[in-house]
Amino acid sequence: MANIVSIVKLLKIKYNKINDCQKMLWANKKEDDMKQFQILYKDDRGFLENLGEIKQWRTFHPAHVTVFKIYSQDMDLAHIRHICSCLDHEMPDALYLGCTTNANIVDGALSDAKIILTCTVFECETTRAKLLQFPFSEENVALDVAKLRKCCDENPWVLAVELHATIMDMSMMEFCREMSCLREDIQVFGGGAFNPDMDDDTAVVFSKGNGFLEHGIIFLLLGGPDFHTYSTLISGWKPLKRRFRVTKADREILYELDGRPALDVYRKFLNIDRNDRFFSNTLEFPLFLEHGSIDILRCPLAANDDDSLVMSSDIQEDAFVRLAYGDPDTILASVREDGQKIADFCPEVIQTFSCAARRAFWGDKNISDETILFNRIAPTMGFYTHGEFLRIKGDMLNFNVTLVVVAMREGEPPKDGKKVDIADAYIEKDDNKRIPIIRRFVSFIEASTAELEEMNRKLAISSVTDGLTRLYNRAEIERRIHRALDKRRNQETHGDISLIMLDIDNFKRVNDIYGHKEGDHVIQALSDVLRNAAAKVRSCFLGRWGGEEFMILLSDSNADDAVVLAEKIRLEFASVSYETAGCQTVSIGVTQAKDETADALYIRVDKALYMAKAAGKNQVVRLD
Ligand code: GH3
Ligand code: MG
Ligand code: MG
Repeated sequence: MANIVSIVKLLKIKYNKINDCQKMLWANKKEDDMKQFQILYKDDRGFLENLGEIKQWRTFHPAHVTVFKIYSQDMDLAHIRHICSCLDHEMPDALYLGCTTNANIVDGALSDAKIILTCTVFECETTRAKLLQFPFSEENVALDVAKLRKCCDENPWVLAVELHATIMDMSMMEFCREMSCLREDIQVFGGGAFNPDMDDDTAVVFSKGNGFLEHGIIFLLLGGPDFHTYSTLISGWKPLKRRFRVTKADREILYELDGRPALDVYRKFLNIDRNDRFFSNTLEFPLFLEHGSIDILRCPLAANDDDSLVMSSDIQEDAFVRLAYGDPDTILASVREDGQKIADFCPEVIQTFSCAARRAFWGDKNISDETILFNRIAPTMGFYTHGEFLRIKGDMLNFNVTLVVVAMREGEPPKDGKKVDIADAYIEKDDNKRIPIIRRFVSFIEASTAELEEMNRKLAISSVTDGLTRLYNRAEIERRIHRALDKRRNQETHGDISLIMLDIDNFKRVNDIYGHKEGDHVIQALSDVLRNAAAKVRSCFLGRWGGEEFMILLSDSNADDAVVLAEKIRLEFASVSYETAGCQTVSIGVTQAKDETADALYIRVDKALYMAKAAGKNQVVRLD
């Protein structure tokens, strides 16, 4: 491949020479590579001149396959039909396909031409192309894809399928599911036909020999041993950490997030409510949908009266979503980073499918900032879509608010060629190294949220824990006892429930003789003994009942097992000798729950403990 910089220079020279209304560009690179001619259609005279130039060029170069793409912001079909008939007449061997669009991209930038054409000439004799066009609706999705699959099976050379489809008001779920069953090695990419008016649902697709369809899909099949393609998906919007579960959704209507009306998330966290500017406000904060390892953006287009949201495409119940934020600097940084992979592929032509929402976000003055850099790599064209398609690891996906970039090449990349470093494209901007201010704020928010979450976690623990012993506090052990009894009553569990209640013997004396602090040490030492003993017992919960009294809940043990544990605890505690207080003992009451209230159970275990005290302390008494 020739030196890219010189190609770009050549493009510019050619570009400047041709009058402003009608421009034709081409890239002259090494022989037997694919070439791309870009034509801005203004009137017949210039258009026919351009076709004449291409025809002339083809007489000197081998052209095995020639494909025209026609993208039209002009909704007057008569104009497009006329262009198609010119192509039929002037270059009958050339394939053509196209659709109506929101706007067009030529030379890597938003074009003010209403109709653009690109002519891609494949020069390797092994490269092949084939067109399919079908009516398209939810009812015949499976049939359309079956026909495509059959065609791919009959033509093993197929490596890539480019699609253009009218997808307004259609759920793409089944289509994507069916497309995912195509032969594994086939790349699929494309975009939804659109209308220059984002609120107008009319869109049209058309292709050579197949006419025009308001509900249609075109597949352009490309392949052959020397044909190579690489596609990537660029978003630039970054997800915030906080996740919400989609608790109610139907197709593209998102009813609830975390069990609350979906609009509440925008109201509460972003102060965005239902109003005239809803779409542009939420465009800065669309929803990230987690789809395995791939993040898909969905944009709220409008808010309904019931506070549900109309999303840009289907959203599935039980999915997790996060708010994402987009700002120009962050997006451009992402485009540079992801775009480098395209540069590394050394493409000869680049096709882009960019969401019309991106155009709305950037505005016409700035939108080209994110695509122009691709034109440094290879001639870049495309259009602004209603939904982008890309197959990733076999999975066909329908995206919104993304930029799908498709790079194509015939033959191997040049060994000696200099790769384009697209980060260079911004070096002239002296603020290149500056980190966007929104990213600083986002780190601030994420860090504060992480801190709050940690504090909440600690708070949640401390609200159920006793400070001196780190065992459960009285309220928590009581709650657990109640829950265990409830579960058994409701037949959710069937194990025996037992309680062990302990009280340190003659503890007042410990305090009186050795001081309160030493008393605390003894209490802590007993809690360590309890923890040790409980570690080996299933479903065992330890609580400080108050003062030097403790309660142990065994939610899956009978009284026999509880007595064994109680004896073990008694002996172990008695064997500890404290530096100042010497050896201490506990008295223990044990009982097993019947079909009774927690209070009745407490009274019996307390009575068992009292009996142990009355019988001389340092002993276990079981009361059934
Ligand atoms: P008995 O063998 O009958 O249980 O006699 P006792 O002296 O242990 O009597 P009782 O259980 O009524 O006394 C509990 C004492 O425990 C009273 C209180 O001062 C002391 N105490 C309660 N909580 C704490 C504490 O957190 N630290 C310390 N050091 N002492 C406590
Ligand atoms: Mg006591
Ligand atoms: Mg006591």
